[in-house]
Amino acid sequence: RAKAKGKGSFYVFENELEVTQRARRELEADIKLAIERNELALHYQPLTSLRDGRVVCFEALLRWNNPARGSVSPVEFIPVAEATGMIVAIGRYVLRQACREAARWPRHIRVAVNISPIQFRTTGFVEDIAAALASTGLDPDRLEIEITESVFLDKTAITMTNLNELRGMGIRIALDDFGTGYSSLSYLAKFPVDKIKIDRSFVRDINSSDESLAVIEAILAIAQKLSISVTAEGVETAEQARILKARNCSDIQGYILSPARPAGEIFDIIDRIPQDFARLLPAEAPRI
Ligand code: C2E
Ligand code: MG
Ligand code: MG
Ligand code: MG
Repeated sequence: RAKAKGKGSFYVFENELEVTQRARRELEADIKLAIERNELALHYQPLTSLRDGRVVCFEALLRWNNPARGSVSPVEFIPVAEATGMIVAIGRYVLRQACREAARWPRHIRVAVNISPIQFRTTGFVEDIAAALASTGLDPDRLEIEITESVFLDKTAITMTNLNELRGMGIRIALDDFGTGYSSLSYLAKFPVDKIKIDRSFVRDINSSDESLAVIEAILAIAQKLSISVTAEGVETAEQARILKARNCSDIQGYILSPARPAGEIFDIIDRIPQDFARLLPAEAPRI
């Protein structure tokens, strides 16, 4: 790529690497301004009980809408925010906003918030959570934090202290994307965990791959032994939901019932889902 300088008298060549680095710096600069420019919002995706088809929780999922870039996926911008440390400020915003909005929902419905490993290990993380709960009035037992197994890999003492303090406050701990990455069953016995979220990649192949089904059955078996509940992520078909229900999976999350939607639609979703669920998975006829 060449850039004209002056009247075409000479060219400054920008190589691939420079172009990539510049794009990266521009992305970082835009993310940095996203909070103050009000470009971030949370959308919420329901988790539905396979027992009765009722919504039990909503996962808060960050959306970034930038005037120049349009809507940018968290898969793209979260890693950049993590690399620069901006994830800490973003994570605080997410926590406050999620608690504030959830405080208006029916009392039996929880909110789940994704926590970056970097945010999790920041000094004052537990205090941040306590402050968010106090200022919004959300009951601690209505907050679920989603962490990935990567937080178990180092700084084990801090991790254990944080998890125990959060648990002590009544907050629930969910292990996100379970089955990918560094899964070790020993974590489940060692760290306090209330819920496992089975990664979408296993759910996707549940009715075509014996291996995926075997992994899911093994996760469900150990979770049951340890009294840990299980959410299946990325459920897109009725067949997947049926297979999971037959194996006593606790709840499902996926496009089959709803993608993440703006906060204003929460009450409609709560009303609609049990009806959709009943159509999707008709209750067995009662035995006489
Ligand atoms: P995640 O926490 O595993 O969230 C689930 C992702 O799967 C979401 O993608 C959701 O929209 C998507 N999903 C749900 N159901 C289905 C389905 O049936 N089919 C398919 N194909 N996808 C489905 P999203 O919103 O793009 O978020 C991607 C990831 O970005 C999240 O994965 C999470 O790791 C991260 N993330 C999102 N919001 C936050 C946040 O506030 N803080 C942090 N630290 N990370 C976040
Ligand atoms: Mg999550
Ligand atoms: Mg997940
Ligand atoms: Mg995932």
